[in-house]
Amino acid sequence: RQKIKARREGVDHSIQCIGIIGAGLMGSGIAYAAASKGIRVLLKDISLEKAHQGKSYTERILKKRIVKGESTASEVEGILENIQTVSTYEDFKACDLVIEAVVEERSVKGQVIQEVQQYLRKDALLASNTSTLPIAGLSTNSLQPKNFIGLHFFSPVEKMTLVEIIKAKETSLECVHRCIDFVKSLGKLPIVVRDNRGFYTSRVFSTYITEGLYCILEGVRPALLENAGEISGMPMGPLEIADAVGLDLVCHIHQQVHQDTGEEYSEVYDVVRLLVEDLDRTGKKAGKGFYEYP
Ligand code: NAD
Repeated sequence: RQKIKARREGVDHSIQCIGIIGAGLMGSGIAYAAASKGIRVLLKDISLEKAHQGKSYTERILKKRIVKGESTASEVEGILENIQTVSTYEDFKACDLVIEAVVEERSVKGQVIQEVQQYLRKDALLASNTSTLPIAGLSTNSLQPKNFIGLHFFSPVEKMTLVEIIKAKETSLECVHRCIDFVKSLGKLPIVVRDNRGFYTSRVFSTYITEGLYCILEGVRPALLENAGEISGMPMGPLEIADAVGLDLVCHIHQQVHQDTGEEYSEVYDVVRLLVEDLDRTGKKAGKGFYEYP
């Protein structure tokens, strides 16, 4: 009741209801993370069926928790009730924060941002989960750049604690602070990074993957490469990380950087394209990439 009163008086800026656009790997993971902390989530995709598929992801994780004895059936029911699939942006009027997690295509993100903002409250925040696209560029689609920010979660969201917060030039400090509080409320660790292409993590991990692919091209055995990565303290070898991110996204990011910056296209990515386009091996989410996931 105190929170509602504070809200009515305009002094409570906590995030209690979020909208998520794109119920794929990341959107559904973010929905799980928020719903399990009691935050109401409105989940939208290109169709209601796709949004339902995203919610099923949460259901699968929660059922595993019941089997392991980590959650009870009634707790699980409560978390699932926090996620509502929606088919129009009208419902997003209730949101304190909206996170777009659609495909990594600048034009699609731009269109989604322009469409949704017409329905948002003036004090609502709008965030992009982009892996690489500079936030200042995306914010030109927003009517309120001061409320536009980057919130970069990592996959799998239910396990990864780090979240990059990207402040563009016009993002207000209030928006940054509210996002820091939101990320902390999810039990995750926020770091505020510069609005560079790839921010911090994508720059570092893209290099890790690219150099790993070069090692293989130069004749290093894949098993040796992967083991060396782990022995040196990385969470996974470069091929396993590429599989976890999604080989389609890895290819797309490399292509986008090449187009935007003129940075040389690396031929090592031809093998990743072959896996995706000819063999339909898009990584862990598809059950097969460099590795197989039975
Ligand atoms: P994904 O392909 O699994 O999901 C994208 C979803 O967006 C799909 O369900 C698609 O139907 C939906 N979509 C496309 N156009 C839409 C529209 N106009 N309206 C509503 N929904 C739409 O992709 P993903 O791996 O979840 O990546 C999503 C975003 O998160 C990308 O920007 C990506 O760069 C970023 N990201 C990905 C990872 C990763 O490890 N995969 C990590 C961090 C950030």
